[in-house]
Amino acid sequence: MSAENVFTLSNGEQIPVIIENRRGVRNVTLRPKLNPVREIHISKPWLTSNSFVLKFLESKRKWIEHIFDKAPTKEKIKPDMTIEILGRNVKLIHDTTMRGNCYVNEEKTILCIGGGADMFERRARDFIKNELLTEIKKIIKTTPRKYWPTRITLRDTTSRWGSCSTTGNMSFSWRLAFAPYEVMRYVVMHELSHREHMDHSAEFWATVSELYGFGVERAKRWLTKNGQHLHKYF
Ligand SMILES: [Zn+2]
Repeated sequence: MSAENVFTLSNGEQIPVIIENRRGVRNVTLRPKLNPVREIHISKPWLTSNSFVLKFLESKRKWIEHIFDKAPTKEKIKPDMTIEILGRNVKLIHDTTMRGNCYVNEEKTILCIGGGADMFERRARDFIKNELLTEIKKIIKTTPRKYWPTRITLRDTTSRWGSCSTTGNMSFSWRLAFAPYEVMRYVVMHELSHREHMDHSAEFWATVSELYGFGVERAKRWLTKNGQHLHKYF
């Protein structure tokens, strides 16, 4: 629920920044982490402000970019590749003569991306994000109105799959698009349940089960075990 700082690499990847106050330390220490999640951990003395720390972080940009760049965790999205989107294996094809992007078959297993080669990855990403958002909204509509969010945002963070504020603003990791459909649906129901319980009490979990149905534990286990792989592309 806490505000999250993010360090954006020049390739657009957003690295969550976790700032910790440490008793007895006299300096700010930066620790980029690559496994199991990509994050930057910073410890600082109590009296040092967060804004000072973030400025310090920016001054070390070259070094940080280098560390994350050389970590080979990403696979480049290319035409003719098959990737899993919302639980379906989808083949990506490229047609430079097309302006838009669309599925070319009813089963939605072939996705044609239009535009120039330099835009392929970004267009594919935008299309997938849009699809996820549409699907999340569909899932929300199946629940009673009292659970509905006031606003939905898609984000790219590695430390959480979703969040819900006290005012009902929800955010979801757009990478849930690469998870099995039921896992993505679980995260949606989890956040919707926070509209009623802002904690993880037994009552909260009862609501999750009510909304999601059987299999909450299985979905949670899947995320713990495989969540990091959702960051393989883009
Ligand atoms: Zn929660």
